[in-house]
Amino acid sequence: MAIDDGDDLEPMKLTTLTFVGTASCTPTDEGDTACFLINGHVLVDCGWAAALSMLGRPEYDATMLTHVLLTHCHQDHYMGLASVLFYRAMQAARIGTDEPLTIAGPAEDIERIVDLTLDFIMADRLAERCPRPEIVPLTAGDGLRAGELDIQTAATKHAIPSLAYRLLDMETGVGIGISGDTAYLPELAPFFSGVDHLVMEGSTGLTDPPAGSPTGHQSILQAARVAKAAGVETLSIVHTDMRRREEFERAASEIFPGVHLPWPGEQHNLEDRSSDPY
Ligand SMILES: [Zn+2]
Ligand SMILES: [Zn+2]
Repeated sequence: MAIDDGDDLEPMKLTTLTFVGTASCTPTDEGDTACFLINGHVLVDCGWAAALSMLGRPEYDATMLTHVLLTHCHQDHYMGLASVLFYRAMQAARIGTDEPLTIAGPAEDIERIVDLTLDFIMADRLAERCPRPEIVPLTAGDGLRAGELDIQTAATKHAIPSLAYRLLDMETGVGIGISGDTAYLPELAPFFSGVDHLVMEGSTGLTDPPAGSPTGHQSILQAARVAKAAGVETLSIVHTDMRRREEFERAASEIFPGVHLPWPGEQHNLEDRSSDPY
């Protein structure tokens, strides 16, 4: 219910979660591969054309980023980094270059990927328009701060080193969890415990892969089991066959009712739960 409180109160603070892309390894006619924007300035993973895909919402673009967090360095999660860095270089006159972008991700791969990307866009020819990003190598258990967001990490079970992120908005009390790619890992439930909105992959659809499968992915049903055990409010499943949205939502909701498969461009405005409404 909307209540007019008059204009002497501060507007309610919100945490925003924008699904820049939702697809699995390759983009579809719906949009980009899975990547997410939090509060307009922290991008988790970089879809194939992340800079272009972010233009889907007028209030955001890649110039507003302060941080890029990569869950892991598989191509579908980092390919768009080149587009993000080049877009920012082309807009450098507008945004300035005093505050370099911070790029964080698994310690084993993050420096190499950023260096390769800078080489690919020939950053040396862009000179001061493309300042070297600040690189933050992360090991599971490390934390970092991105403005109002306190960020924690945990290892996932994937073919290469891979991190899940738990982001707490210190201004609103809203928590967001993002699994990245992972096999079914019950240990993620305590890590994500109590977050408001959990985003998990569901690559293998309705089929639980055999335990120990080397690809390191999970089904939508396994994602729902983790969400239920973690006691989250909402589960968004991505990185699966999103065209089977309704079928997958029906099946997963039998385990965890608060599940949905988001559309690219979809934005959730998550409310402050830390303040007393009365
Ligand atoms: Zn992937
Ligand atoms: Zn992967």
